[in-house]
Amino acid sequence: MAGHRLYRPAEPFGGRMADILRQSSLPDPFRAAPSAGWKVLDASTLTEDRDIEADVAIVGTGAGGGTAAEILSGAGLEVVMIEEGPLATSSNFRMREADAYPQLYQESASRKTKDKAINILQGRCVGGGTTVNWTSSFRTPVATLEHWATSFGLAGFGADDLAPWFDRMERRLGIAPWPVAPNKNNDTLRRGAQALGISVSAIRRNVKGCWNIGYCGMGCPTNAKQSMLVTTIPAALERGATLLTRTRALKLEHVNGRVGALACVGLDARGTDPTLRRITVRAKTFIAAGGAIGTPALLLRSGLGGHEVGRSLHLHPVPPVPAVYDEPIRLWSGPPQTVMSDAYAWLDGAYGFRLEVPSALPGVLAASFPWRGAVEHSERMRELDHVAVIIPIVRDREAGRVMIDRAGRPIVRYRVRGMAARHCVRAIVEAAYIHLAAGAREAFTLHTRPLAVRRGDDLAAFAREVERRGIVPNRVAVFSAHQMSTARMGGRRDAVADPEGRVRGVRGLYVADASGFPSASGVNPMLTVMALARRNAVRILASG
Ligand SMILES: Cc1cc2nc3c(=O)[nH]c(=O)nc-3n(C[C@H](O)[C@H](O)[C@H](O)COP(=O)(O)OP(=O)(O)OC[C@H]3O[C@@H](n4cnc5c(N)ncnc54)[C@H](O)[C@@H]3O)c2cc1C
Ligand code: SF4
Repeated sequence: MAGHRLYRPAEPFGGRMADILRQSSLPDPFRAAPSAGWKVLDASTLTEDRDIEADVAIVGTGAGGGTAAEILSGAGLEVVMIEEGPLATSSNFRMREADAYPQLYQESASRKTKDKAINILQGRCVGGGTTVNWTSSFRTPVATLEHWATSFGLAGFGADDLAPWFDRMERRLGIAPWPVAPNKNNDTLRRGAQALGISVSAIRRNVKGCWNIGYCGMGCPTNAKQSMLVTTIPAALERGATLLTRTRALKLEHVNGRVGALACVGLDARGTDPTLRRITVRAKTFIAAGGAIGTPALLLRSGLGGHEVGRSLHLHPVPPVPAVYDEPIRLWSGPPQTVMSDAYAWLDGAYGFRLEVPSALPGVLAASFPWRGAVEHSERMRELDHVAVIIPIVRDREAGRVMIDRAGRPIVRYRVRGMAARHCVRAIVEAAYIHLAAGAREAFTLHTRPLAVRRGDDLAAFAREVERRGIVPNRVAVFSAHQMSTARMGGRRDAVADPEGRVRGVRGLYVADASGFPSASGVNPMLTVMALARRNAVRILASG
């Protein structure tokens, strides 16, 4: 190891960024919470059990739960939001990986499939995925909606039917084309694709007054990102809603075909282990919005939703492709996702892949790079300043499953196979070509046995080798930030929920999150979740 030093990226503003931002950013809406009389209860502080009554109880405060909370509380209903993660706000965001992952992500950003082959990134905090996501805002593609309508009997899911719901969410969250030049990482995708004649376009973002810092995955320190944390949840609290944090929903109690209560447990200050404190929430209506792993786990623990619950898990598997450039890239700097290519999205009946780039920091990169030995790994880390990464987002037709273990904890089974595996292989090759066309010195895969391609190499031989290795579990790094469709809505009787999100076989329970998608959306799912949650919440109001 002599002669090698550990890589440390230069901290912006000489490490004082958090302090500078705190003085000059948009105000933290929760700073005013005590004087505004907002009802926020951190269950880790409870000294006795609690019984709470409300009109509506919502499990999860992410894209779906946060959206539903604003609509329902705005209509004058008494709403309780139940969130297992902590309330962390811009006043706490330190923009350090070591702080952010344990604080804001499920299982400290180390949640994995049962076979440990896929790294699952998911928010676990007030705002859920919207607090840590990268702000890319897409409407559901028409091809996906047509598939949902024809194959799942979803009436009223046409692009024109849903347009008003998208419009309202886009206006609410300031979703608009992003006018600022792409950062260096996004620009490599733009340059390389254009050099090869592959179409690229700009991504719309849900931001207001973004500082282009690039730390969206650590919680936005300026409150520019229009996550649920700074928009719909404060609005719901302003209208009298209650927010329970570090509170895990365990089980929905139902009698005579109607859900009447939700049993919850308080978590400790770290937000991981249960305490002895029990919270019982009684309500007329319950909404499951714990995300596509949390919601099926809750339904399974409660014995609700029928035998399809947890099946049909889609993950949009991502096999990232890094490359080393001569010029500095600093992929953690600047707004994370602003350029994308959907040139390969229409393969095999719109089950192809989209190309985007990630927001990634040194800790995640270090954990993902191939490990052949300390020296080789540290060589890669020394070049980190010059590394760009393309992420193919593969629309998976094949499904996995969410189950629960004896303690009721979720187990995720998923294997990248069939068409999705073929598209992962093709996507790795295309992404490597794009890097080389953009001027990369070398592109490499994240197979455990290193595989790289340089300018002037035999590209066909590289493609054959990628195909030969394929996507074998634990032989290549695969990620997922898009979990979907484990409590599917549909017009058929075997769907877990009807087209309005009403869970079949029981009264008083709805789904309003990514678990309700009939299949993989094909694009980054946040805006689809919100539009459907908003629609379902309005239908709940209409049904009295
Ligand atoms: C790093 C990252 C980047 C992403 N980037 C983008 C992007 O740029 N664009 C995009 O469209 N999508 C993006 N996504 C995905 C997007 O954020 C999610 O698809 C979306 O947030 C899902 O919404 P949801 O309501 O289904 O669940 P979530 O937003 O995940 O919310 C679920 C909430 O429920 C809570 N919960 C779960 N179980 C329980 C329980 N039993 N009791 C109490 N609370 C519970 C969780 O803690 C969580 O806060 C990204 C995701 C990640 C992780
Ligand atoms: S780039 Fe992301 S973290 Fe930075 S100010 Fe903009 S929205 Fe916030």
